[in-house]
Amino acid sequence: MTRQAVTVLGATGSIGQSTLDVIARHPDRFSVHALTAHSRVDALAECCRLHQPEVAVVGTETDAVRLRELLAHSAAATEIRFGPEALVAVAEAPEVDQVMAAIVGAAGLASSLAAAYAGKRVLLANKEALVMAGPVFMDAARRAGAELLPIDSEHNALFQCMPAGYAAGSQAAGVRRLLLTASGGPFRERVPASLAGVTPEEAVAHPNWSMGQKISVDSATMMNKGLELIEACWLFDVPPEKVEIVIHPESIIHSLVEYVDGSVLAQLGEPDMRTPIANGMAWPERIESGVASLDLIDRAQLRFEAPDPQRFPCLALAAEAARLGGTAPAVLNAANEIAVAAFLDRRIGYLAIPDIIETTLAAVPSVAVDALDEVLAADGEARARAEELLVSYAV
Ligand code: NAD
Ligand code: MG
Repeated sequence: MTRQAVTVLGATGSIGQSTLDVIARHPDRFSVHALTAHSRVDALAECCRLHQPEVAVVGTETDAVRLRELLAHSAAATEIRFGPEALVAVAEAPEVDQVMAAIVGAAGLASSLAAAYAGKRVLLANKEALVMAGPVFMDAARRAGAELLPIDSEHNALFQCMPAGYAAGSQAAGVRRLLLTASGGPFRERVPASLAGVTPEEAVAHPNWSMGQKISVDSATMMNKGLELIEACWLFDVPPEKVEIVIHPESIIHSLVEYVDGSVLAQLGEPDMRTPIANGMAWPERIESGVASLDLIDRAQLRFEAPDPQRFPCLALAAEAARLGGTAPAVLNAANEIAVAAFLDRRIGYLAIPDIIETTLAAVPSVAVDALDEVLAADGEARARAEELLVSYAV
């Protein structure tokens, strides 16, 4: 078997670390071409010692100097680079077979897109890239023959429940609807009015999954599920009306596909991202991921509820952006990134998040997307608008 060379964008993050765990279990199958991190230089140095990549990328020149010092006595002959162009370079390098796109937020767009343009196997965790630039991304992948493997657990579950030979981006015959499961996050049972004073620590304390801070807040507001609705529309070529969101607090069923004959296929497993990561990396084969067996007897009960729109206003905002199309999802995403970052910085309260997104969506009109230019312009305008709004919600 020829080894697959992998670039891990966002190697120091939650998904990046799980990816390196899977890679380390299969030295015969995978080699690491490049690892990237934004500012956690010490953590990246540790990853480089363990995985000996050809290239490591950090955010700034200062970070690059520091990483070089940290690796001075290591056996790895790692080339050290920095900045956004270097991220793109390691995503499209000819020697790379697979790219794990696991940078969080819009910061991951250019490199994820570069992997698609270069025709790589794209392991897509960075859902924000697809939400922002769905038409551009899917078109790039199609033209270049890039293989898109969904890593988001719900989309990976849906992908696994599709007919044999299914390729992401195409329409599967006989599908009636997609059921996206959601845990409901830490505030599933809280009365909305009681959420005014919640802290970032409370919001990121997810009941089932251990994830980065931004996606953890998105799970609390359920904007994560809203972004995933848009993501599902692009990955499986379905309109938003064909996607239903179901709260399933145990996070054991990762999502379901319903067919026209009434069959409903689901993918189940322990909530551990190494399953979708190993699935995407080895597809269509199966490899060990280190994930424990699912003990159904121990789990005993699986529950399902409809999401309450009052409790989770972000869901309706995302559904509206999905319906509007064009640049609306990019505006939604940008406003959400600004609001969540401000909440994590304790500049605004939790309940300001949906307000800021709603006001920004209303202020920045949606235009059709022909190329990345429209997406980037909408993203910039939405960020500026949302930033302005922060002042009126300051705590
Ligand atoms: P994280 O915060 O743990 O890690 C983010 C990574 O991105 C880090 O390596 C960081 O260095 C890098 N990064 C951050 N800002 C950057 C910038 N400006 N430039 C370059 N690199 C930058 O996030 P995560 O939880 O691993 O999530 C990563 C992506 O995967 C997100 O898009 C998230 O929505 C998606 N995802 C995560 C999970 C999960 O379980 N964590 C599940 C599904 C999807
Ligand atoms: Mg998910």
